[in-house]
Amino acid sequence: MREVQTGEVPFDGGTAVQHDAERPVFSGNGAYDYVCVTCGNVLAAGMDPEYMTRKVRVRCARCRTVNISAEVPFAPARRPRR
Ligand SMILES: [Zn+2]
Repeated sequence: MREVQTGEVPFDGGTAVQHDAERPVFSGNGAYDYVCVTCGNVLAAGMDPEYMTRKVRVRCARCRTVNISAEVPFAPARRPRR
């Protein structure tokens, strides 16, 4: 993860807010845990990089830093509508 730069707000993105510092906002079965750039708190556990794009931002419950995961934009996670 890294810190969001001022003015860096994707139009279609949203910020997930972590309410409990002991509980990751996202959890899955992927390869990586994503931690807060400032305090090292786990924000998202078991996530694959494909899901952690520029659009995914998480505000840390412990120190209130807004983190963004990707240096390089990935294709957004998506699926066809049914
Ligand atoms: Zn933090």
